Amino acid sequence: MPRSTDRRSHPRLASFVRIQWYVAGKGDTQTDRLRDVSDTGALVMTEAVARTGDEIRFDLLDDTGDKIAAGLALVVRVDAIAGRMGIQFLAVGIDASVVASLKASDPARPPPLPGKVGGPPPLPGEHILAARAAAEALPAPEEDEAEPQIEPLNAVTAKLIIGIDLGTTNTCASYVVDGRPQIIPGRTGTNTIPSMITFDPDGKWHVGQRAADRQILYPLRTVYGSKRLVGRTYRDEVAAELQKHFAYPLAKAEGQRFGVRIDDRVISMDAIAARVLEEVRDTAEAFLKTKVEAAVITVPAYFSEVQREAVRRAAKDANLTVHRIVNEPTAAAVAYGHKQKGKKTRVAVWDFGGGTFDFSIVNLGEDELEVLATGGDNFVGGADFDDLLASHILAEFQREAGLDVDPDPQQIARLRAGAELAKRALSVQTEYVVELPEFTREPRRALSVEVTRQQFDQMTRPLIDRTLTIAREVMQGIGLSPETDVDDVLLVGGTTRIPAVQKAVGDLFKRRPSKRINPDEAVALGAALLAAEIGSGAGPTLLDILPMSVGYGAAGLRFVPIVEKNSRLPAERVVTLDADILGSVSLPIFQGESSDASRNEYLCSAVVEDTSLWEKGRVTVRISFDDHCVMAIEARNARTGRALPLRLDRTKPVEEILRELGKYDGPQMEPTWQLPSSKLGRVLGKLFGLFRK
Ligand code: AMP
Repeated sequence: MPRSTDRRSHPRLASFVRIQWYVAGKGDTQTDRLRDVSDTGALVMTEAVARTGDEIRFDLLDDTGDKIAAGLALVVRVDAIAGRMGIQFLAVGIDASVVASLKASDPARPPPLPGKVGGPPPLPGEHILAARAAAEALPAPEEDEAEPQIEPLNAVTAKLIIGIDLGTTNTCASYVVDGRPQIIPGRTGTNTIPSMITFDPDGKWHVGQRAADRQILYPLRTVYGSKRLVGRTYRDEVAAELQKHFAYPLAKAEGQRFGVRIDDRVISMDAIAARVLEEVRDTAEAFLKTKVEAAVITVPAYFSEVQREAVRRAAKDANLTVHRIVNEPTAAAVAYGHKQKGKKTRVAVWDFGGGTFDFSIVNLGEDELEVLATGGDNFVGGADFDDLLASHILAEFQREAGLDVDPDPQQIARLRAGAELAKRALSVQTEYVVELPEFTREPRRALSVEVTRQQFDQMTRPLIDRTLTIAREVMQGIGLSPETDVDDVLLVGGTTRIPAVQKAVGDLFKRRPSKRINPDEAVALGAALLAAEIGSGAGPTLLDILPMSVGYGAAGLRFVPIVEKNSRLPAERVVTLDADILGSVSLPIFQGESSDASRNEYLCSAVVEDTSLWEKGRVTVRISFDDHCVMAIEARNARTGRALPLRLDRTKPVEEILRELGKYDGPQMEPTWQLPSSKLGRVLGKLFGLFRK
C-alpha cells in the first residue's frame, strides 16, 4: 500500500529541481525545471502545451537526477508567453514504492468519494479531489447572487416610490401626499401587515393577516420572523442555537442560506421575505390605484452586508426597484426631524421591535442628518418577551393542574399567542388572565393562568438589561453622557410600549422619552419621506456609518478588521496580501466585532487568481462602502497597479473555510439570553431534534 508522506519531512525535498511529467492518458513525457514548490503546488517552467484543467502525472527529480516523489496534479494556470505553468497537487507520495504504485495505475486514480471513512490515509492533496467532486455535485449558484440592486440616489424619477418598514413581526408601507407622509393600510384596514406566510398542506400559501390567522392551526407551516434569518449563512450549530426562537423547522437552503422545511422542500428565507414584500406591493397598488415599482426599504442598523443584500434581492424578486436601503433608526430620526422642521437636535433612537434591538445617536440639522454611532442585537426583541412569558404560563398551569405536559407544536403556538396577548394587555393594566380553552385533551383541561405586570417585569428584566448595556457601550464609545449630551429620546418599535422598557430608558437618560412620533409608524413614515426626497431630488443629506466592522479571517481563526465599525460612509480601506505561488489569493470576509472569526458573520470569499501574481506577487484588495452601505471589493496587482479579476465566492462551505483557518470546533455563540430551562425551552429543543431527523 502506498505510504503517504508529508513532503516537508523529506530530507532531500529542498533539492527537487526538475519535474518529469505528461498529461494523464496522453503520451509524451516532458522534463522541465521547477521554479518554485509549495505544499499545495508548483510553478513549472515549460514550453509544452498543457491546458488549464488537464490532469498531469509527474515524478519529481532531485539535483542528482533521482526520482524521489511521484504524483498527480491539476494544471490551474498556463502562461504560454512566459513559458510557465502552475500546477496544484492532487496527490503526492514520497518514496520508491509510491512512485511504482502510482505508475502502475495510469491514467489516474479514481477520485476518492467525498466523506469516505476508513481506508488508507489520504495523500497530500487528496482533499482537493474530494472537494472538487463535492463542488461538481453542488447546484449552480443563483445567477444574480451578488448583483447590487440599488438605483442611483440622484436619479430623479417621476414614478411613485413608497417607503417600506420590513419588520420582524409586521411590515408597514407609506407614501407622501401633499408633502405629508401617510401610512398605506393593509387589506383588513390595519396599518401594518403581519410579516408571515403559511403553507397549507394542500399546497396553497397565504401571506400577511391570513397567515397570522392560520398560525395556531399550522404552527410548523407558518413562517414568522424571517427577517431575523434573511441572508445569514447557514451553519448546523448556529441553526441549532437559533431554532429555539422558531416553532417551524429551520433547514439549509440553496447558497448556504437559512430556509424552512415544508414537507420535502426547503424554502429560503429570502424567498419568504420576497413574498411578504410582494404582498406589500399588491396592497399598496390596490390602495393607491396605481402601479408601484420602486421603494425605499428599511432594515435594522445592525444588519450585516449579506442581510442587506438579501433584502435587495428579495425586493427584486417582488418586482420592486430599491432606491435605498435605510437603517430603521435613521428613518425614524427623519420622521422626527420632519416635525422638528430643521431645528438642531441630538437624539437617541431606542428601536426595539419584534425581533431586533437597535440603538443609535443621531444629529439632526437643517439640511443634514448625521448618525454618530450605532449598536444593537439582532436576537433580542418582543418575541423573546413572549417566549419567557409562555414558559412561565406553562409552568404555572402544570403546577396548578398537577400535570406534566409535553406540549405539542400547536400547544406551543397557543401558549405563545396567549403570552403575546397578555404582554400587550400588561402594557396598560397590572394583571391579566390567560385563558386557553381545552388546552389538554386527556385529561380535558382548560388553561387559566393569571399573570401580573410585576411578574412579567421580573422575568423579562435580563432582556431589558441587555439593551441597556448595548446603549451604554455605544454612548461610551463616542464619549457622550446619556444625561447631558442628548436632547431627546425617540422610542421606536412595538416593544417600547412595555412600561418597564419606557422606565428603563427614562432612568438611563434621566428624562421622559419623546411623544412626538408613533413607535409603530415612524420608521415607515421616515422611509416615505426619504422616498419622496429621492423623487424630487431634494432633501437632507444623510451621513451614515458602518454598523459592524468588516474584515478577513486569518490563520488561527483570527478576525482582522479592515473597515472599522462606526466608520463614516462612504468609507474605503486597502489591505495588501501575498499571493501564493500559483498566483492566487482567497480572502474570507467576515463582519462583526469578535476577534474570533467564527463568531462573526461570514460574508463571502474574495478570490483573485492571475498569472501576473506568480513569483511573489502581491495584491491590494480595496473594500469600500458607498453612502448607502453597499459594499464593493476590487483587487489590483500591488506592483503594477493593474486591476485584477476578482470573484466573490459563496459556494465553499463556511465550515471548511473555518477549518482551514485554524482549529474549529463549532461556533462559540455570543451569549445573549437563553430560553429558561423550562418545559417550553426543553420542548423547543426536542422539536429541533425531530426536525433534524
Ligand atoms: P414591531 O417590530 O415594531 O412591529 O414590534 C412588534 C413587537 O411589538 C411585537 O413583539 C409585539 O408583540 C410588540 N408589541 C406591540 N404592541 C405592544 C404593546 N402594546 N405592548 C407590548 N408589546 C407590544
